[in-house]
Amino acid sequence: MELQKISSKGPRNSEETAELVNRRINLLTLHLNPVQDNPVQELELLRCAGKMKAINVSTETLSEYMRGKHRDIQEEVFAYFNSRPELQTPIEISKDEHRELCMKQLVGLVREGGIRPFRYVVDDPSKYFAIAEAVGSVDMSLGIKMGVQYSLWGGSVINLGTKKHRDKYFDGIDNVDYPGCFAMTELHHGSNVQGLQTVATFDPLTDEFIIDTPNDGAIKWWIGNAAVHGKFATVFARLMLPTHDTKGVTDMGVHAFIVPIRDMKTHKTLPGVEIHDCGHKVGLNGVDNGALRFRSVRIPRDNLLNRFGDVSRDGRYTSSLPTISKRFAATLGELVGGRVGLAYSSVGVLKIAVVIATRYSLLRQQFGPPQQPEVSILDYQSQQHKLMPMLASTYAFHFATLHLVEKYSEMKKSHDEELIGDVHALSAGLKAYITSYTAKSLSTCREACGGHGYAAVNRFGSLRNDHDIFQTFEGDNTVLLQQVEI
Ligand SMILES: Cc1cc2nc3c(=O)[nH]c(=O)nc-3n(C[C@H](O)[C@H](O)[C@H](O)COP(=O)(O)OP(=O)(O)OC[C@H]3O[C@@H](n4cnc5c(N)ncnc54)[C@H](O)[C@@H]3O)c2cc1C
Repeated sequence: MELQKISSKGPRNSEETAELVNRRINLLTLHLNPVQDNPVQELELLRCAGKMKAINVSTETLSEYMRGKHRDIQEEVFAYFNSRPELQTPIEISKDEHRELCMKQLVGLVREGGIRPFRYVVDDPSKYFAIAEAVGSVDMSLGIKMGVQYSLWGGSVINLGTKKHRDKYFDGIDNVDYPGCFAMTELHHGSNVQGLQTVATFDPLTDEFIIDTPNDGAIKWWIGNAAVHGKFATVFARLMLPTHDTKGVTDMGVHAFIVPIRDMKTHKTLPGVEIHDCGHKVGLNGVDNGALRFRSVRIPRDNLLNRFGDVSRDGRYTSSLPTISKRFAATLGELVGGRVGLAYSSVGVLKIAVVIATRYSLLRQQFGPPQQPEVSILDYQSQQHKLMPMLASTYAFHFATLHLVEKYSEMKKSHDEELIGDVHALSAGLKAYITSYTAKSLSTCREACGGHGYAAVNRFGSLRNDHDIFQTFEGDNTVLLQQVEI
């Protein structure tokens, strides 16, 4: 090989350097135009726009194929918001107005639009995720607000509680009379849920649990729906049982408890609860994230979500699962729906961005052959290299997440151990891979639309800012990827 003439330690003089540079340029040129017998200067535009014969596609059939049996409910969501222009989120809006608008959007959709997502959380998850995708495309803050209400707060009550909880809370959660929060993360512990420090000590005298925040690091932080609207929170805390030995209490591990945080009538914060606002965020400002601190807040024993572990009137602990770690795994396993939903919604964001960038690239014209009209920027191979693999990946992710949702729905029905393991690994891997891919693609799409991509009205800014945190919540991507090989 020619290159071997040059010392393996690198070029020895300027002639060798020049020769190396020339060879490198020739090699790179071949990459751009791999047809060997084509002289380099014949590198051509690959015409997509104008010159190509229009392909006859039945958009109706394609849409039906892609969106499947839940197309109608997505159309209902869009029809509702199209009929209520005053509920559409304007480009310029303050944090507080955005939060109120988001709540109005959710209540309107449910009570006036007749869309009841909570009914599908357990019975037909694929329908729930289809609604979430449509709602998220209206305003991602609304998508997350809905996710907090139904998948996190509602999902924790349904999946970690028992019949008594379902009977008591279902309707109020469903019609948003009971707006609620999912209070897991603490100031000092996010990814490491086993390290949570909030405690729930059983008091056998009064048949209550006493919820306490033992130090500043245990303040519940980032809790959606807490700063303004929430009336209840599912609080994750270490269950402490009194013992008759010198230790005083036994730590039974992390459990979930329903804790009322605001008065149902006056909406005032309840005694012993302190609520702070997490303030203005990089995105998702329609969601009211807050911090919760508990000072000896008493709740009835019934408020323990007792599907995987229960405490009797006389303070005895019972569970069908033998160890703290098995109970912890079962509890987190029931919450995997949030992660499935995020992977699915992230593809929804990617679809919007890729469609905007590809359509624009077909219509936008810059430069062209001498004395001829300018060409569509999608005719440039560099533009195609940016957008076409992304378009193909969007289709691949669409089908991959449909498969994930199918597996998840099967798992909810069968509770099959092997399926639970599959869904855990698949949701962790897909959530991490897709959300990272979408986050990077949003920047590429913005660039692909040049200066016009930077106008807020063209949506890349809000999509990018709102979506960015998808890489962190419902499991940080780096941490999740460590769980894929199980
Ligand atoms: C807008 C928003 C809304 C939220 N809503 C809620 C909510 O409603 N309810 C709720 O309970 N929580 C909520 N959260 C919290 C969210 O779930 C956590 O932020 C998330 O789990 C990550 O935890 P952390 O912030 O402590 O990050 P950390 O765990 O501190 O991560 C920081 C960095 O350390 C790295 N890291 C951590 N552990 C490891 C490891 N083992 N190996 C390698 N790297 C590691 C991570 O990759 C990351 O880069 C929300 C957060 C935000 C920002």
